[in-house]
Amino acid sequence: MKTYEARREQALAAFHGGVAIIPSATTIPRNNDTEYEFRQNSDFYYLTGFDEPDAVLVLAPEHDEHRTILFLRERDRATEIWNGRRLGVDAAVETIGVDIAYPIGSLAQELPRYLCNVETLYYTLGNSENDACVRAALGDARAMTRRAGFAPDTIADPSPALHALRQIKSAHEIAQMRRSAEITAQGHIAAMRATRPGLHEYEIEAVLEYEFHRAGAQRTAYESIVAGGDNATILHYRENRDRLAEGTLLLVDAACEYNYYAADVTRTWPVNGRFSAEQRAIYDVVLAAQQAAIETLRPGQPQKAFHYAAVRVITEGLIELGLLRGSVDEAIERETYREYYMHGTGHWLGMDVHDVGRYRDLSDTPVTLEPGMVTTVEPGVYVQRDAACDERFRGIGVRIEDDLLITESGSENLTAMIPKSIDELEAIIGTCELEFSGQRVSSGAI
Ligand code: CA
Repeated sequence: MKTYEARREQALAAFHGGVAIIPSATTIPRNNDTEYEFRQNSDFYYLTGFDEPDAVLVLAPEHDEHRTILFLRERDRATEIWNGRRLGVDAAVETIGVDIAYPIGSLAQELPRYLCNVETLYYTLGNSENDACVRAALGDARAMTRRAGFAPDTIADPSPALHALRQIKSAHEIAQMRRSAEITAQGHIAAMRATRPGLHEYEIEAVLEYEFHRAGAQRTAYESIVAGGDNATILHYRENRDRLAEGTLLLVDAACEYNYYAADVTRTWPVNGRFSAEQRAIYDVVLAAQQAAIETLRPGQPQKAFHYAAVRVITEGLIELGLLRGSVDEAIERETYREYYMHGTGHWLGMDVHDVGRYRDLSDTPVTLEPGMVTTVEPGVYVQRDAACDERFRGIGVRIEDDLLITESGSENLTAMIPKSIDELEAIIGTCELEFSGQRVSSGAI
């Protein structure tokens, strides 16, 4: 609990002079009696380590008695028999380490008094039910302070302050991210070993996610992308239903979430274990671009520098292969490379796969890298089936993505253990027959 108490202390300092209201996530119905998988709101979890729905954390740095207040569900024997255990109000103070806990049902009654005599209410608008509750509490606080004292005259978003904290990872967080990376590596390696022509994308997906869950990861960090052949040229391909064809590449963008920390990894490998000349040529360009991008990562560098490094290497490579015309500077200036490389080179990574944290400061300058930040580095080249180029390259999609921790002297690749060189990949693909616990259904069956 010390971890979360220390984070709340930092947040309390950030909300000095105000009160912050941080609601949990809520359950979302899927259909009759069934809900979508519950996943706690990252800000709420960052400050509490508490993973139940229908809870609200209030941070009141100016309050005399209660600086940290938790509203949560009450124990309920009948409901718990059906839907699982609850912490309950009585255990919350000791377990979570807050100053006081109340039943969530008393939020409307208790909240107004915490809003009296503070200038700023920190609350993220957007959830209509929560918004209505906060608006009513503010109204009540104004009524309570009409004759003496005052109620908040400013409503501000708590996100910038919280997200600035989340953007710099502590040693504890880095340890979680290392484990998330290790488990993700196990999944990718198992998927590489299992790959052979004739399997379906979903079978590789099953291998990946089996390894994630077997190692204790609670869930995937995002929907796994298992894209064979020209499905790899669809950036967010998610169907995962096609068969892996001889002579094609397989792009796998998949990672686990472990203890609320995400990895985000892409590897691309040949289905039959051998790169063709054209596949190899494209792969070499993307790998060189990724290496150039990673080399730029160090404290003090602008966040965008690694993207420009990747774009230059990709553009040079595409011109050399005849996929782009003109000079490198001209192709970069006119952005003609975007026909084949249409996304950015990386995003922040942490509790959320596209993690919080600014990319540009308030004067619209790219932020500079600092130790403790984590970014993906993920260049790619995607030659669409209908691209106006040498047909031998059509339908090839390659992306290579690793997770980089910014250190005092440069960066550390948290996912470096996942095979990436052509030699490593060719040595591992298809080295393990996929085993099924039951009898295999004939492969044409639907
Ligand atoms: Ca990714």
